[in-house]
Amino acid sequence: MSTPETTAPEAPRHFIRQIIDADLASGKHPTVVTRFPPEPNGYLHIGHAKSICLNFGLALEYKGRCHLRMDDTNPAKEEVEYVESIKEDVRWLGFDWGAHDHNASDYFGRMHADAVRLIELGKAYVCHLSLEEMRAHRGDLVTPGKPSPWRDRPVAENLDLFAKMTRGELDEGSAVLRAKIDMASPNLLMRDPVIYRIRKASHHRTGDAWCVYPMYDYAHPLEDAYEGITHSICTLEFEIHRPFYDWLLRTLDTPAKPQQIEFARLNLTYTVMSKRRLLELVQERRVAGWDDPRMPTISGLRRRGIPASAIRRFCETIGVTKHNSLTDVALLEHAVRDELNRTAPRAMAVLDPVRLVIENYPEGASEELEAVNNPEDPAAGSRKVPFSRTLLIEREDFMEDAPRKYFRLTPGQEVRLRWAYFVRCTGCVKDADGKVVEVRCTYDPATRGGDAPDGRKVKGTIHWVSEPHAGDVEVRLVDRLFLKEDLNDLAEGEDWRAHLNPGSLRVARAKVEPSLLALAPGAAVQFERVGYFVADAKDSSPGKPVFNRTVTLKDSWAKAAAKA
Ligand code: ATP
Ligand code: MG
Repeated sequence: MSTPETTAPEAPRHFIRQIIDADLASGKHPTVVTRFPPEPNGYLHIGHAKSICLNFGLALEYKGRCHLRMDDTNPAKEEVEYVESIKEDVRWLGFDWGAHDHNASDYFGRMHADAVRLIELGKAYVCHLSLEEMRAHRGDLVTPGKPSPWRDRPVAENLDLFAKMTRGELDEGSAVLRAKIDMASPNLLMRDPVIYRIRKASHHRTGDAWCVYPMYDYAHPLEDAYEGITHSICTLEFEIHRPFYDWLLRTLDTPAKPQQIEFARLNLTYTVMSKRRLLELVQERRVAGWDDPRMPTISGLRRRGIPASAIRRFCETIGVTKHNSLTDVALLEHAVRDELNRTAPRAMAVLDPVRLVIENYPEGASEELEAVNNPEDPAAGSRKVPFSRTLLIEREDFMEDAPRKYFRLTPGQEVRLRWAYFVRCTGCVKDADGKVVEVRCTYDPATRGGDAPDGRKVKGTIHWVSEPHAGDVEVRLVDRLFLKEDLNDLAEGEDWRAHLNPGSLRVARAKVEPSLLALAPGAAVQFERVGYFVADAKDSSPGKPVFNRTVTLKDSWAKAAAKA
C-alpha cells in the first residue's frame, strides 16, 4: 500500500485549514481530531473519498488523528458486509485509523443515560403523537408550531415512560422521546425534534439488547463529543442541523465541544452518487454488483484499475468549498491518466485485428525484439517481444484509399512497427464481399529496432502482435455509465435510469503479446495507442487475464462534446 503524500506546504489554505490554524494558534485545541462516519448501509463511493481524504488528510497534515466510526444507529438497514467493504476501501485509499475503530452502537448505553439526563433536566419528554400529528403540529416557516399535549408532563412520568419504552413494554410507533426546545423556533429542526424511537429490530452488533434507538441528529453530536473530536466535518445539508448539534452539547454540558463544519459535497458529471440509487442499480441488476467497474464506488473504481493515488490527487485538486457544484468527471480521468502514464508498463494488444503478412520475411522464422516497458520510467526496464512473418494489426491502421494526411498503412507508404522494423505496404487481399482479410508488406531488415541507418523517417508508428505467438483474451471496454451530464437535473417524473449508457460495457476479444498473459490480477498496463487497462482482480485466472479498460488514452468525450 502506498502512503498518502502529506500535503505540500504550498497546498491551498482552504477554509477548513484556516479554521484549524486559528484554533491551534489560539490554544482552543492542542491537536486535531477528525472522524469519518459512514453509515454501513452501502458501499463507499467517490464522494465519500472526498470526505475520507479531507478528514484523514487533515489528521496527517496536522499530526492529529482521524477516527473511523460506523454510524450504525439504524438497526434495519445495516449489514456486516458493508462494514467490511468500508474498512477495505478506506485502507486501500491509503489511510489508517490506528486503534480508533469505533461504532455509534458502542455508545448506546451512554446515549441512553444522556437521554435520561435530558429528561431530568426537563429538556426531554415522551410524546404519543403519531408521525402525521407531529407533522401537523410542527407548523411551517411562517406558522409557529403547536405544543404537543404531552410537552409538560412531569419528569417522573417521563422517566417512567422512557423506561417502559426501553424495556419493550410499549409498541413501535406509540411513543417517542423528544427534546424540549422551542416550538416557535424559525428553524423547524429545533421544534422539539425526536431523539429516540422504539424499534423492535435486531441490530448487527447489539442484537436484541435495545428496543429504543437514537435518532441520527441526537447520536451524532454525542459520538463526536465522547470521542473528543475537535472538528466534525460534514456536508452542507447539515448546516441547518448545527443549532441542534450545539444545543445538545451545551445542554448536557459535555466536556468536549466539537465544532461542526460544513463543506460542499462532491457531485460528478455522468454519475449518480447517492447510495440509494447505487443500491437500486445493484438490486435491479443494471450492473454486476457494487464493484462493477462502471460504478462510482471505491471498489468499482479499484476494479476498473484507477489507482488510489489518482483518487487522492483528484480530491486535493477539486479543493474544499462551501458552494455546491458539479465536477467534471474528466478531471478524475485526467488524474488517472497522469498517474498511469508515469507508472503503467506498456504492452501491445490489438483489439480489432487484421493480418499483416511480411512478404520478404522467411516463412516459419521468428525472432525476439527488445521493447521498452515504460519510456517515462527507465527503471521499468525492457522485455522481449516475439516477431514473425505473420502479424496482427488494428484494422483501422490500414486504408486502401487513404487521404493525404493518413500516415499509417496504405499501398506504397512506409511505417514503423513499434520496437521492430520499417515496413512498406504492397497491397491487400479481400474476400468475396470486398472486406480486407490480409494486408501485405515488405520489411527493411536494416531498420531492426525501429530506426533507419540511412536516417530516413516515417510519419507513422503502429502496434502489432505476432499472430502465432499472440494470446487471446477478453477485454471489457468500460465506458461512462450514463449519457447525461447532470443527473440531478431531471424533469418532474423523469427516470434517471432512462439515461443509462447502453454502450457502457462492451465485451470484446483482443490479441495480445505473450507477456500480457502473465500479468498479475489487479496490475495496470497501457495497451500502446489504445488505452490503460487492468487485469481484472476477480475474473482473471493464471495465464488467462481478463482486462478492464480503465480509461482511454485521450478524452474521447471531450471531442464528442465539441462536435455536438
Ligand atoms: P449518500 O448521500 O450517498 O447516501 P450519505 O451522506 O448518506 O451518502 P454517509 O455514510 O452518511 O452517506 O456518509 C459518510 C460521510 O461521507 C459523511 O460525513 C458525508 O458527509 C460524507 N459524504 C457522503 N457523500 C459525500 C459526497 N458526495 N461528497 C463529500 N462527502 C460525502
Ligand atoms: Mg448520511
